[in-house]
Amino acid sequence: MSLDRIRQEIETAAHTAGRDPSDVTLIAVSKVQPLDRVEAILRAGHRVFGENRVQEAASKWPEFRTRFDGIELHLIGPLQTNKTRQAMELAQAIHSVDRPKLARSIARIAQEIGACPDLFIQVNTGEEPQKAGILPSDTDAFVAECREMDLPLRGLMCIPPVDEPAAPHFAMLARLASDNGLTGLSMGMSADFAEAIAHGATHIRVGSAIFGERVPQG
Ligand SMILES: *Cc1c(COP(=O)(O)O)cnc(C)c1O
Repeated sequence: MSLDRIRQEIETAAHTAGRDPSDVTLIAVSKVQPLDRVEAILRAGHRVFGENRVQEAASKWPEFRTRFDGIELHLIGPLQTNKTRQAMELAQAIHSVDRPKLARSIARIAQEIGACPDLFIQVNTGEEPQKAGILPSDTDAFVAECREMDLPLRGLMCIPPVDEPAAPHFAMLARLASDNGLTGLSMGMSADFAEAIAHGATHIRVGSAIFGERVPQG
């Protein structure tokens, strides 16, 4: 699918839901993509990208930033505490705040450098043991804990189980966000972003539908 095609689908999905398409941010997930494909999307004028590993983001984006203005980088993958500082220096948003230790690390560094990316709390809506994220039942307490640390909470994020319909997970995330007075909803990927928009997504994370299938890492 081309970038234009995806923008059209976002517009259609937003209008169907009675929403303003400009309230949906398209994050082009460029992890593991060849640099020429990423550059083509930059040349097409897109500026918001997502990476799931700090190391990979650090190897790619400082160079692109010397050539393209206004790049906004979102870190969407699990974050090790020892990479917090590097992540905060690279990214304008972190979607994977999933434990108190990481929140404390972010808060400490934010104090020190006087800046902090927008933060999303990742919720493990499917309660999958192998998946990162706060359990739904722990979300209210964790949101409160992050607020006590003065963290700039933007919203919640989820990755629904691959083998289940996504809609109930999107609905759950939307309800948890609303219960906690949060407006940001990072949900929806290539296969289900239209459905996520119907459920209120403000940030959709789309990789393969923009770039093509990810080239396997060998
Ligand atoms: C890779 C990834 C995506 C994009 O997935 P696609 O199915 O290629 O659109 C979205 N969110 C996260 C957290 C990812 O790791």
